[in-house]
Amino acid sequence: MTSKEVPYKIYLTENEMPRQWYNLRADMKEKPDPMLNPATGKPITFEELRPIFCDECAAQELDHTTPYIDIPAEIVNFYRMYRPSPVVRAYCLEQALGTPAKIYYKYEGTNTSGSHKLNSAAPQAYYAKQQGLKGLTTETGAGQWGTALSMAAAYFDIPLQVYMVKVSAEQKPHRKAVMETFGASVISSPSQTTAVGRKILEENPGTTGSLGCAISEAVEVAAGTEGYRYVLGSVLDHVVMHQSIIGLEAKAALDKYGEYPDVIIGCAGGGSNLGGLIAPYMRDKLQGKASPHFIAVEPMSCPSLSRGKYAYDFGDTGCITPLMRMYTLGAHFIPSPNHAGGLRYHGMSPIISKLYHDGFLDEARGVEQTKVFDAAKVFIKHEGILPAPESAHAIKVAIDEALKCKETGEEKTILFGLTGTGFFDMTAYMKHNSGEMSDYIPTDADLEKGFSKLPKVPGIQE
Ligand SMILES: *Cc1c(COP(=O)(O)O)cnc(C)c1O
Repeated sequence: MTSKEVPYKIYLTENEMPRQWYNLRADMKEKPDPMLNPATGKPITFEELRPIFCDECAAQELDHTTPYIDIPAEIVNFYRMYRPSPVVRAYCLEQALGTPAKIYYKYEGTNTSGSHKLNSAAPQAYYAKQQGLKGLTTETGAGQWGTALSMAAAYFDIPLQVYMVKVSAEQKPHRKAVMETFGASVISSPSQTTAVGRKILEENPGTTGSLGCAISEAVEVAAGTEGYRYVLGSVLDHVVMHQSIIGLEAKAALDKYGEYPDVIIGCAGGGSNLGGLIAPYMRDKLQGKASPHFIAVEPMSCPSLSRGKYAYDFGDTGCITPLMRMYTLGAHFIPSPNHAGGLRYHGMSPIISKLYHDGFLDEARGVEQTKVFDAAKVFIKHEGILPAPESAHAIKVAIDEALKCKETGEEKTILFGLTGTGFFDMTAYMKHNSGEMSDYIPTDADLEKGFSKLPKVPGIQE
């Protein structure tokens, strides 16, 4: 029951924007399993993380106890250029579906990079600059992370090398151009510029690349170049924490109208937007104050949570990162090249994985890409926003949930994350428009290949 009529868009003022990130781990009674050093099988230390990540990010990565962490003023000011982002009541979509459900979405596409990734790119570039580092390397798949980091690196004035998954670089030349325009140097991965890239090309010359492989190259360059560090746009605990700004804003906006979601839906690639969106609501659940139903949506072609194994695995194909316990398809899993809809990563945030394993994250749902694009078009027609294919996974499930309410007559309140825009995904939309898009669902035998190469960790994972 709401006392005031909810407007189409709920904006917070700049003053109402959160000044602290929320660290979900602090409220988890059982913490995610520690990151391990693959050489020793022992939990990784701050000193071991320092050569890879900048100091502040390494400290945040290992901090399982501080619930709220101040957002430095410089980052608050950067956020002010495009935040707070709106929560939108999808009145038009509700009407078109004829559902009694209330549908809200938190829209993260209101910045030039077009997605939520800028929320973590800004602190990562800022902390690196503060530390006096000379440059950053990263990988990018669909290109949103590379673009976001290019923007942040330009603003905080630090050089950046981006390893871009080859198939994406070919499909999205304009993405590459945007990054270069912001001053980043962009290399197609796998490349001849690294040992791991040369090895992967030798073993598999026709490869279209993968995120895992691009990560290996970026890590190799960062580890081998003085004053350079590697930055990652998802999966890691500190990235999930930076993304809590999404959920904190959403909750503050909905609280103004006395709204509390019954169902919260996010797409899950590496788990960062989902972790960020659900963070304050998950806090309520962990503290026994409320019990919203959380749904992680992933592509059926890359079903890390719904069909993966909860195991220690590398974050990259080259097997050089620390080991993380997560739901994974295996670091060697490469999704089918017909997969157009993003969310191609083999693993999943250790926080999200732990919450799913322990039943706090209620459900992981796989969806087929043709159905995802069908849903995107319903959304385009009624809400007037061209969504990123990743975001459309959440749209698909939000529509399905709203249609269920139509059958049962339940007036549920649904909140989903609209993580970004799809202007650079027109190749995928064109495929769908012309009816050429197909679905691919890996068989158990396909997945077994990835599982069979999971690393052995003495005493932990034989
Ligand atoms: C990267 C990306 C995702 C998936 O990444 P997560 O870490 O799972 O959030 C989802 N939507 C958009 C628009 C993205 O750019």
